[in-house]
Amino acid sequence: MDTDRDIVRRYLCDDARDTRIITTRLIESVNAMLSHQNMPIDVRKLCQEMAAAAAILANILKFEGEMILQLKGNGPINFLMAECSSKGQVRATGQWEESIKAGSFRELVGTGHLIVTVSPTQGKRYQSMVSLNSDSIAECLNEYFKNSEQLNTRVWLSSDGSSVGGLLIQRLPSEGGYQRKHEDAWSTVAALAQTVTEAELISDAGPVLAYRLFNELHPRAFSPWPVIFECSCSKERSARALQTLGKADLELLFQDQTVINLDCHFCGQLYLYHRADLEWIMSDQLPKSERLQ
Ligand SMILES: [Zn+2]
Repeated sequence: MDTDRDIVRRYLCDDARDTRIITTRLIESVNAMLSHQNMPIDVRKLCQEMAAAAAILANILKFEGEMILQLKGNGPINFLMAECSSKGQVRATGQWEESIKAGSFRELVGTGHLIVTVSPTQGKRYQSMVSLNSDSIAECLNEYFKNSEQLNTRVWLSSDGSSVGGLLIQRLPSEGGYQRKHEDAWSTVAALAQTVTEAELISDAGPVLAYRLFNELHPRAFSPWPVIFECSCSKERSARALQTLGKADLELLFQDQTVINLDCHFCGQLYLYHRADLEWIMSDQLPKSERLQ
């Protein structure tokens, strides 16, 4: 079987039915999403890892909405953000200092937080965070799952800048409570998953990797869940950023320039606003989307 490209895929093992296994391997989507952003390689890799994590977590969502991961730190990379919708639309962006040099994850991001937001299309947004006190994004996420009293979950991620792979294992609630055999099955899956290498994640994270790692448990692959790069920006949504400046400041801006240009950090799309748009910008007709800009 060929290795997945731009796919999230789930597996079930008959001998470990209470364990969810998910792989993802993203190539075209994570290159397209960064093609408008001239990122240094270390920023690019982390951005792609965030996108792979967002895609895996969006795949688990039981409702329509978005999975949003934000990293805020005080290192040379001070902001990273990746989102994936429950339809598999991914996008990501980041901010970094021009003087950035190669370094470890801790050196690059410094101290701060990884913020995980679940944003349903209908209903309340749920947000929680974990300190950036680990050696990778995957480890931060493992810490997040450990702290948030959710299902026992572990994540592995790796990117080389042009391809990113991810693996997640999650222990599902057992019918009739946990029993010894379920505990053993989870331990086996966790021990096998632990052997995965970064090179395997980058080149094989799909059925090839799942069969190699969990061969003895006879994993069965579910249908592929495609991931594509798609930006949800619009002239209305960008206008909301202008609205926050306030009418007086906007009027001053329009005295200095006839057109205000705003470009989308995610996709590079340029939006133009003229003096005649001012009333519309300040009106309450703009969408009150819950989506982060
Ligand atoms: Zn955009």
